Amino acid sequence: MAENRRFLLARRPQGEPVREDFQLIAEAIPAPSPGGIVVRNHYASLDPAQRGWMDDAESYMPPIALGDPVRATTIGIIQASDNPDFVVGQWVMGLNGLEDYSVSAPGGFTMPIDIDAVPSPANYLSALGAVGLTAYFGLKDVAKPQPGETLLVSGAAGAVGSAVGQIGKIMGCRVVGIAGGPDKCRRLLDDYGFDAAIDYKGKDHDALIAAITDAAPDGVNVVFENVGGPVLEAEVFTLAHGARIVLCGLISEYNATEKVGLRNLWQILARRATIHGFLIADYAHRFAEGGAQMAQWLSEGKLRADEDVQEGLENAYDAFMRLFSGANTGKLVLKIA
Ligand code: NDP
Repeated sequence: MAENRRFLLARRPQGEPVREDFQLIAEAIPAPSPGGIVVRNHYASLDPAQRGWMDDAESYMPPIALGDPVRATTIGIIQASDNPDFVVGQWVMGLNGLEDYSVSAPGGFTMPIDIDAVPSPANYLSALGAVGLTAYFGLKDVAKPQPGETLLVSGAAGAVGSAVGQIGKIMGCRVVGIAGGPDKCRRLLDDYGFDAAIDYKGKDHDALIAAITDAAPDGVNVVFENVGGPVLEAEVFTLAHGARIVLCGLISEYNATEKVGLRNLWQILARRATIHGFLIADYAHRFAEGGAQMAQWLSEGKLRADEDVQEGLENAYDAFMRLFSGANTGKLVLKIA
C-alpha cells in the first residue's frame, strides 16, 4: 500500500547534525486541505539554509518545529487538488518538506513549472531556482560590478558560487574563486571560466591573503561571500578602497557551537568598504525576470549549471551532509520519486 515517508527533525542538532537528530517515518497519504493541494514530490532541494532552520534561533523564517519534516523546496506533480487553479497532473514547485507527499495550503509559494522547457525538472532547483536567482540578483542588483572590476567569490565551486562567477564573467569582471581542493579549483578554471582559482584548504590566514593578493594585485572590488569565518577574515585584508561585500551565506559558521564573528571590522572602515546582507526572498516579485535571463544564458551556452543528484528519501541525512564535507559537485538535489 502506498504511504507517505517523512524525514522529520526529531531534535535540534548541537553543532554538526548527526543521524539521530532525524527520524524517517511512514504515514497515510494526506488529503488536500480546503482550497489546497497534495503534491507527489519528485525532487527536493538540499540547502545550507536548512541547517539554520533546524536551530531554535531568531532568523528570517521560523525554526522547523520538532516532529515536522525538514522544510525544503520541492518539485513534483499534483496528486490531489481542492483548488480549480491547480489541476491534478500539473508539475509545481513549492516550499514543502522532505517527504513523499506534501500538503500545500492555498496562498503559499506554490507555482506551476514547465518541465518540457528544460532538460531536467531538477533545473528548477538549480540555475532556474532560488540558487541561480541568488547569484543573479545578488551580483547584478546588490554588488553592481563594473566591467574590469575584480570579483572574488567564496564557495566558488558550489551552486551559488559557480553561477556568480560565470555571471561575473558575462558582466566583464576579472573573477577569482576560492574553493576546497585541486579538483574544484580545476573546475573553476576549466568548466566555469574563472580567471584564477585558490584552494583554501591547508592555507593559514597569511597564506590565504598572499594567494588572493597574487590573484588580485590591485585589490578586490567585489566579494560575493558564501563561506564566512577565516576565509572572510582573510578576504577583508585584500579589499580595494570602496569595495562591496555581498553577504550571501556563512556556511563555515552554520555548525559552530560558539559565536563566530569578523574580528577585523576596522579594515572595513579603513578601506571605506560596505557589507550588504542579501536574501533572495526579497526578490520573489522579480523571479520571472531573473529566471528568463538565466534560461537565456543557459540555452546560449553562456552558463553551465551542474547538479549533484542523490537518490532516495532514506538517504536524506547522508545527502544533506555532503554540503558540509564539500562532497557535493554542483547543486545538491535529492531525488525522491
Ligand atoms: P554549495 O553548493 O556551495 O555547497 C556548500 C559548499 O560549501 C560545499 O561544497 C563546500 O565547498 C563549502 N563549505 C562547506 N563547509 C565549509 C567550510 N567550513 N569552510 C569553507 N567552505 C565550506 O551550497 P549553495 O550554493 O547552495 O550555498 C552556498 C551559500 O549560499 C551558503 O552559505 C548558503 O547559505 C548561501 N545561500 C544564501 C541565499 C540567500 O538568499 N542569502 C540563498 C541560497 C544560498 P568546498 O569544497 O569548496 O569547501
